[in-house]
Amino acid sequence: PSVDSVKVAVRVRPFSQREKNSGSKCVISMNSRTTTTIQDPKNPEHVKTFTFDLAYWSHSGFQKDKYGVLVAADPSNNFAGQRDVFHDLGRGILDNAWEGYNATLLAYGQTGSGKSYSMIGFGANKGIIPNVCEELFQAIENQERNQEYQVAFSMLEIYNEQVRDLLSRNKKPAVLKVREDPQLGFYVDGLKSVPCSSYAQIERLMEQGTKIRTTASTNMNASSSRSHMVITIQFKQVFLDGDLTKQSTINLVDLAGSERQKSSGSEGDRLWEGSRVNLSLTNLGNVISTLADAAMGNKVLHVPYRDSVLTKLLQSSLGGNSRTTLIAAISPADICYEETLSTLRYAERAKKIRNKAVANTWKLT
Ligand code: ADP
Ligand code: MG
Repeated sequence: PSVDSVKVAVRVRPFSQREKNSGSKCVISMNSRTTTTIQDPKNPEHVKTFTFDLAYWSHSGFQKDKYGVLVAADPSNNFAGQRDVFHDLGRGILDNAWEGYNATLLAYGQTGSGKSYSMIGFGANKGIIPNVCEELFQAIENQERNQEYQVAFSMLEIYNEQVRDLLSRNKKPAVLKVREDPQLGFYVDGLKSVPCSSYAQIERLMEQGTKIRTTASTNMNASSSRSHMVITIQFKQVFLDGDLTKQSTINLVDLAGSERQKSSGSEGDRLWEGSRVNLSLTNLGNVISTLADAAMGNKVLHVPYRDSVLTKLLQSSLGGNSRTTLIAAISPADICYEETLSTLRYAERAKKIRNKAVANTWKLT
């Protein structure tokens, strides 16, 4: 097994219209490919520096090309567009998958910080997930014929600690149970896993799932920013001559907004929701802290994987058999200072986790 730490990237987006209108100042700077600094707007001499594996400057220095894709306005500037992010993070996932390693990519940050933009993307600016899927099929097509490939796609939502299948035909999908198998660990009972033979097919499924995520949350009078979305791609290679099989599970997770939930009014229902929605996110933080402690050499008796649905499903990704990447999405604006700082601190803890990934390969005979 190879022991490696969670890879952490941070990405800062352009000002939103709202931030522009309110005359926001940018409190973030990135002076190298790895450092991010944040300035306290109330105490401008207080500057904190964070070092991550990668720092993506997507705040300024871009223009639209003829397809509407954001690209660097000037080749010498440090603007990072969707292709740049895919090149580092998506390619790594694909390389791992071909070797039979499990891979997990998590997007963390407050609502509106750019998680979905990085993961799924908007319009011509396709995110990591579509790019990974597209390149996976391109690579498969270029392979030799004495191998067989299987790709299966699933997509679920965790909302209020309840799992729903986003590929369900139902507009309001039923709640599915999370069960535990002594060999396989936790899994979602009855979740659709659709065999796919082309990128176009995955694109359609993703579209369908995204639509259900929004309608379902509207039906439940909630915002999709409070749900976690997990896309899982199972990739299996069978080498017919050597009877060798390699299998990789790729988890791509668009987390719920990390902002502290404001208790809006006194409705019991809302409060319950507020505390439950973030149970998975809060507990993910607990699991990350515990694993970070363990990696620092502190004695850890218990990692609370079982305390929430998300951490159950991600158990092997966190401190287990997976190569894991966290992308921390942040707003550039002074008004988001507190939330951004808390995102950077969360990312710093995640950096300390050590995973023990093994390639999932086996001989049939
Ligand atoms: P989240 O999923 O974290 O709530 P979104 O990904 O929906 O946030 O992003 C919020 C808005 O900011 C969207 O309109 C999105 O297009 C825009 N945005 C986010 N990141 C970028 C980026 N790197 N470049 C350009 N626009 C971005
Ligand atoms: Mg989103």
